[in-house]
Amino acid sequence: MDFRYTDEQSQLRKAVREFAEQEIGPHVQEWDEHQTFPVEVVKELGSLGYLGSVFPEEYGGAELDYVSYCLIIEELARVDPSVGLIVAAHTSLCSNHIYLAGNEEQKRRYLPKLASGEWIGCWSLTEPEAGSDAGGTRSVAVRNGDGWILNGAKTFCTNAHHADVCVAMAVTDRAASQHGISAFVIEKGTPGFRLGRKEKKMGVRASATGEVIFEDCRLPGRQLLGLPGEGFVDSLRTLDGGRISIAALSIGTAQGAYDAAILYSKHRRQFGRFISEFQAIQHKLADMATDIDAARLLTYRAATMHSRGENVNKESAMAKLFASEMGVRVCNEAVQIHGGYGYIQEYGVEKFYRDIRLMTIGEGTSEIQRMVIARQLLKA
Ligand SMILES: Cc1cc2nc3c(=O)[nH]c(=O)nc-3n(C[C@H](O)[C@H](O)[C@H](O)COP(=O)(O)OP(=O)(O)OC[C@H]3O[C@@H](n4cnc5c(N)ncnc54)[C@H](O)[C@@H]3O)c2cc1C
Repeated sequence: MDFRYTDEQSQLRKAVREFAEQEIGPHVQEWDEHQTFPVEVVKELGSLGYLGSVFPEEYGGAELDYVSYCLIIEELARVDPSVGLIVAAHTSLCSNHIYLAGNEEQKRRYLPKLASGEWIGCWSLTEPEAGSDAGGTRSVAVRNGDGWILNGAKTFCTNAHHADVCVAMAVTDRAASQHGISAFVIEKGTPGFRLGRKEKKMGVRASATGEVIFEDCRLPGRQLLGLPGEGFVDSLRTLDGGRISIAALSIGTAQGAYDAAILYSKHRRQFGRFISEFQAIQHKLADMATDIDAARLLTYRAATMHSRGENVNKESAMAKLFASEMGVRVCNEAVQIHGGYGYIQEYGVEKFYRDIRLMTIGEGTSEIQRMVIARQLLKA
């Protein structure tokens, strides 16, 4: 075990932090208020190599390990969790599903454009009636000669309204249950593929979340991703990696709130002293820092195992469960340390408090993570 970042990881962390503070920081409040998707920043992240970080160079990636990927997500989320979420959905859901299940032609067509930011990706599993129970997918794809015709609607799709490429799951053989769901890659502009409602959200408001709709959407056979009927199983494999990124997103969000709280505690005076001199505030800060570090260790363990190609079903669920719930605790305390100012927009922590709330829900709720973990524990 080695608990230090490598020199490359430290440099990466510094570079992403500088970029986030300079290029994202000044716009965070405005993007949140107007629900502005920061498309130019996303493109810039692509040109810096941060959108294809974990993929091989031959597909336009930077071939970094998963801890490095976590650092990118953490540092973006520390300044704006919305940007962290956009990158996470693009990379570890859309691109990674294509990388895991795609054939050579699909990888060569999509991954370089997704890695460079030329194209933005989204990934659509959830439906109005199939959330935690994603195996209950109702969208259908029926064979049409060599191709497929898709019908159905997906909901809560991150990046949907700005995506050039969508990976979506649909039932191809209802009798085969979870082995009867297939994945498809759909390009923007495909007839029968359109966007529905864009949601108005509590937090991560600069990330666009919305519906994608398929109405007799005709796809050539080459748009099937992976084997017929294996789209759901491939989705679960994709989510194993995705959950590590939600853990990293939670850590970054918590770190941003903690950094604001410690700074504030050293400036705010009450009863003639800085509030950081009160033991009650010191204990809060100590608990917050300990919580964040514990989440990091769980997350980097899962990330390291993932980079080695090991099964991380339990470890990524543990990291996601702990880090997201930790993030809620830390952001809550950051607001408390700010007193009334924590409730006021310009101090920033109220936004972290709103943003973090997604993390115990997206990519599997805490209840579902506990089910995943327990299933693995009871297998042993
Ligand atoms: C901002 C945002 C972005 C998102 N981005 C994406 C995306 O890019 N792609 C995508 O496919 N999805 C996305 N999602 C969807 C997200 O993954 C789902 O919302 C989540 O999986 C929960 O599904 P649900 O909302 O239908 O809740 P439900 O499944 O209806 O759950 C409601 C409650 O019941 C509990 N529950 C459900 N089943 C069980 C059980 N068996 N045991 C115990 N408790 C249970 C849940 O934990 C929860 O507390 C996003 C959601 C949001 C809010």
